[in-house]
Amino acid sequence: MRQVAIYGKGGIGKSTTTQNLTAALSTLGKKILLVGCDPKADSTRMLLGGLNQKTVLDTLRNEGDEESVELDILLQDGFGHIQCVESGGPEPGVGCAGRGIITSISLLENLGAYTDDLDYVFYDVLGDVVCGGFAMPIREGKAKEIYIVASGELMAIYAANNICKGIAKFAKGGARLGGIICNSRKVDGEKELLEAFAERLGSHLVHFVPRDNLVQRAEINKKTVIEFDPESNQANEYLNLAKNIENNEKFVVPEPMEMEDLESMMVEFGIVEL
Ligand code: ADP
Ligand code: MG
Repeated sequence: MRQVAIYGKGGIGKSTTTQNLTAALSTLGKKILLVGCDPKADSTRMLLGGLNQKTVLDTLRNEGDEESVELDILLQDGFGHIQCVESGGPEPGVGCAGRGIITSISLLENLGAYTDDLDYVFYDVLGDVVCGGFAMPIREGKAKEIYIVASGELMAIYAANNICKGIAKFAKGGARLGGIICNSRKVDGEKELLEAFAERLGSHLVHFVPRDNLVQRAEINKKTVIEFDPESNQANEYLNLAKNIENNEKFVVPEPMEMEDLESMMVEFGIVEL
């Protein structure tokens, strides 16, 4: 069973990419558990044809204690029989969102969600790893394989570099960077920049996913592109991403860049002009 965490800056396309990727892997015959680790609880929406209303934290609040919670309430059967679960979040303004991920993963483990027949467990984790709660999937080596979604935009690369600092910190537990996924924002020279950035980290670009309005059209229909238009070019891009991840053998402890080097790299590729 490969346990994979997908990180990246907010809004970069983690949930979109993860759902299309898992949908593509399911068409290759893979059995998958997808754990949404964002309080927005929108990591599985396009696989379920709508938001999963029963997040782990909501269920715990309603039931009062762990003993009354059953696994089949938490797991929803999605596209390609992907098992979908959302950790959810605390009531707005109360409590720590990162804590919810810790609670969720422990509960899923106790309830036996991690069955031997699974090929993959995916964690779709928001933002960066500044807060310990959000680092949970890679702490203690739960998810050993990490992919970072980034684009050619400065902030996306800053965030990716910070996430690498987190991965390096948790390397003892077995966490390794599997690569960078470029989710294109149509920035000039984007692919070359991301290839260079990934190489500087000691890693590689796993796939370049083009920007395509078909993603929005599928999203409005609460579907992945894989389900909405399986013959499309974009569906094929996600399939190629899936194959690259399936066949990936390059896992490294990343070497994060110094801020100065990162900025000069951005200038070199013409993204930032001084
Ligand atoms: P995150 O989970 O990182 O916060 P989302 O996956 O929710 O980000 O993506 C934010 C928005 O970007 C989504 O509404 C989606 O429609 C759009 N998006 C993501 N990837 C693509 C793409 N390759 N082409 C077009 N739009 C995309
Ligand atoms: Mg998301």
